[in-house]
Order: sequence, then structure tokens, then C-alpha cells
Amino acid sequence: MVKRRMVVVEDEPAIRRGVVDALRASGYEVVEAEDGQRGLEEAIRLGVDLVLLDLLLPKKDGLAVLEELRKIRPTLPVIILTAKGTEDDRVRGLKLGADDYVVKPFSARELLARVEAVLRRSAGRPYDVPAARLGEAMIDFERREIRWPGKDRVGLSETETAILSFLVANRQRAVSREELLARLWGIGSQKVETRTIDMHIARLRTKLKRPGGGPSPEAILTVRAQGYMASDDLQPLERVST
Ligand code: CA
Repeated sequence: MVKRRMVVVEDEPAIRRGVVDALRASGYEVVEAEDGQRGLEEAIRLGVDLVLLDLLLPKKDGLAVLEELRKIRPTLPVIILTAKGTEDDRVRGLKLGADDYVVKPFSARELLARVEAVLRRSAGRPYDVPAARLGEAMIDFERREIRWPGKDRVGLSETETAILSFLVANRQRAVSREELLARLWGIGSQKVETRTIDMHIARLRTKLKRPGGGPSPEAILTVRAQGYMASDDLQPLERVST
């Protein structure tokens, strides 16, 4: 089973340490951030499953982090770590789309119970599309491969998988290159050119063609001046089928 990856954004070292240790002891992979800016950058990286977010943070406060995060990953589970007596912040956090909160001081047991509950609830979210169908082909995002009838299998890179699953999850709209860049390489990554996205899309289109030739449906449409969009032939699946 793939290890779930979490980001802990907390500036108080003792609390951060406690949270990180508890999560690691339960088998989660954990990334730490001690300020809001760094936390946001880590949270939008590939493969993050959950964010534990303090509210009073240096550089960027927790609510601002949450607001920006929601624009890029609307359904990424977030649990707020809040101090007693800050009910307003807690309510604002929930309004901004946090999934749950724990009040400091909290026990490791309580924290882990919340984490498990939020992960369970988020399992069926549209963002986590496990698979898609394209004509006769099945695309398995977890195994990162395209399976055609017979024995033909085409492997996908981590980036290709991320782009394709993101397009499928947002299939009702065109997704801009900038949004894909931010989603894949982080907000501050102006070093990566939007042309990089075009290259990945070109490679994906080649891989999505039926091996050995023959007609195959178009998977990714180019929407002028807007970006890319999953075609109607690319349908999300709730589970991997054969
Ligand atoms: Ca704090």
C-alpha cells in the first residue's frame, strides 16, 4: 500500500515535533513546515494527501494559506490546529473549506482519530479519480498505466499521471497551463515554463493512441486561449476495472 503523505504546518517546535512523531509512528510520511509560505508550497506538491495547519504562523497566516490552497487543490483534506478561545478563526477556517479542527493541547490519539476520519471521508472525492476509461482503454492512475484489451500496457510518468488525472477530475472545464504548473511544481515556480506543460501533453497524447495504430478517441482537447480539457471520451471511473 502507498504511504499517505501529510504536511504539518506549525511554527511551535514542540507541537510540531509531537504531531510529526505521532503521524510517523502511525506509518504516515510527513513533511514539516515552520511557516505559512513554506507550508503552502509543500501542500500543493504532488502526492500530498492531507494538511495539518496551524493558524497563527509567520510569513503567511493559516487562513491565507487555506484560501490559496483551496484555489489550487479544492478538495485536499485540511485539518486546522487551533488554540483554545479562537472560535472565530475556527469558524472562518471551516467556512474556507477546512475539513476539521483539533484544539490545542490535543492528544496523539485524538489527532490520529481525526486524521483517519478525514482521510476516510475524503476517499470518495472527485479529486481522487483512481481510473478513467478512454474507448476500449482503461487508465489506471494508481499503477500509472494505460491498459488496452489484450496485453498492451503503456506506462505513464508521475507528472503525466498527475496532469491526466487532474484533467479528468476537472473534466467540466478547461484547465490553464498556469494552474497545472502551480499544481505540479508549486506556486513560486516561475522557473518552469508553461511550454513544459505542452511537452507533457504532447507525450500524453502519443501514449493515449492505440498501440499498433487504428482509430482511437481523442483524450485531451486544446481550448484556445484557455488551456487543456478532458474530452467527452475520457470518462472517470470510480474504481479500477479490468
Ligand atoms: Ca502558531
